[in-house]
Amino acid sequence: MKNNIILDLLYPKHITCNICSNDIFEKENNGICSECQKTLPKIVGQVCFGCGMPIHSIDRYCDLCKKSKPYEMARSCYEYKDNIVTLIHNFKFHNARYLAEDFAKDLYNLYKEKKYDCDIIVPVPMTENRLKFRGYNQAGLLANELAKLLNLPVDEQNLLKVKDTKSQVGLDFSERKNNLLDAFKTKDKKFFKGKKVLIVDDIFTTGATIECCAKALKKGLASEVFAITIAHTVKGFDKKD
Ligand SMILES: [Zn+2]
Ligand SMILES: [Zn+2]
Repeated sequence: MKNNIILDLLYPKHITCNICSNDIFEKENNGICSECQKTLPKIVGQVCFGCGMPIHSIDRYCDLCKKSKPYEMARSCYEYKDNIVTLIHNFKFHNARYLAEDFAKDLYNLYKEKKYDCDIIVPVPMTENRLKFRGYNQAGLLANELAKLLNLPVDEQNLLKVKDTKSQVGLDFSERKNNLLDAFKTKDKKFFKGKKVLIVDDIFTTGATIECCAKALKKGLASEVFAITIAHTVKGFDKKD
């Protein structure tokens, strides 16, 4: 306990809200106040059984998921719009790493709600070049915080992104998949054998990234692959790389 107090003094947590800039007094939050938390566009109601996108039809699957996918199921906490766009932007590009703890609580709740039951957590990897340039992998931060809450191991060594890819902005699903072709591979061929793997990322856009990671994991003999992300792109908010 004493150590925590000293650490808090050395590294004070962000104390203003990323959305409204008011001071945050709640001990449990780092970067968003409880009032703004309530405004986030949580996904409720019917979603595609495969990718978790909100759908308003009698179909169980969206058009993209009607073909079989290399992962069992993907789910997201929020629609990628409104305040969540600001939060994720700060998290990825403005060094607001402390938001990982806040987001991990949302991911944890979703994991429990969906009754996921995985053996290991794997963040969507970055290439070494990209990691050097960016300084951190936001998916890795999320995976580590979520792993603490779920008491599961994280692995960041055995699923690798081995190819730098062009920005995905403006590309559709098949262009994204082509762009990502052979971008991911597993290192130790036996590491994922028979494991139920949870892929963690910040945004689910077309699902091409998750799909390519899942393919590599299945090639590495993972028995099942699930995915969890903070936000799922909705039409008109296609801004992710
Ligand atoms: Zn606020
Ligand atoms: Zn779908």
